[in-house]
Amino acid sequence: MKESVQVHDLTFVPMIASSEIQERINAIAKVLKMRYANKKPLFLGVLNGAFMFAADLMRACDFECEITFIKLSSYRGMTSTGNITNVIGLSEEIKDRHVIIVEDIIDSGKTMNKLIPDLKDLAPASIEVAALLVKPDAMEHHVDVAYTCFSIPNDFVIGYGLDYDGLARNYKDIYTLKK
Ligand code: 5GP
Ligand code: MG
Repeated sequence: MKESVQVHDLTFVPMIASSEIQERINAIAKVLKMRYANKKPLFLGVLNGAFMFAADLMRACDFECEITFIKLSSYRGMTSTGNITNVIGLSEEIKDRHVIIVEDIIDSGKTMNKLIPDLKDLAPASIEVAALLVKPDAMEHHVDVAYTCFSIPNDFVIGYGLDYDGLARNYKDIYTLKK
């Protein structure tokens, strides 16, 4: 892990190493196996941020499962715009499917509070949320997160799929804003 990284105008310092991320993912995959082994769940990755987490989580699951991606965003730069666009690109039939939403980070909870009711309208057999990161202190709307890799303070983070204005998604580790 680098001691610090510069992205646009900001400096970030290491927060979570890729080895710790993979350990948590493996632990969650074991729990998912117990719950979903014979249910052929559909992972529903939320783009762009969750692409890396979704790939690693699916790779850790050694049972029948499927994946698809949707796009839905409420963030520009470092502040939430509050304007959540609608679900784009849900091509898969989710009726009667066991859906596991795969999200990068639950911040205010706005995104999930819009998405989950929209998906429930499509009559899936079940819905659960798997999140790489949760910021409990930022949560304005309650979200029931069944699987969380890490709970973190209310600070801006990047890496492992998470960007700062487009950059830093490619880092293997997670970094937080230097104070
Ligand atoms: P919410 O709707 O829960 O407020 O926001 C969720 C979305 O905001 C996440 O999916 C993510 O895209 C973005 N977001 C929230 N916190 C952060 C953060 O610390 N860093 C980055 N890069 N994105 C964040
Ligand atoms: Mg996201």
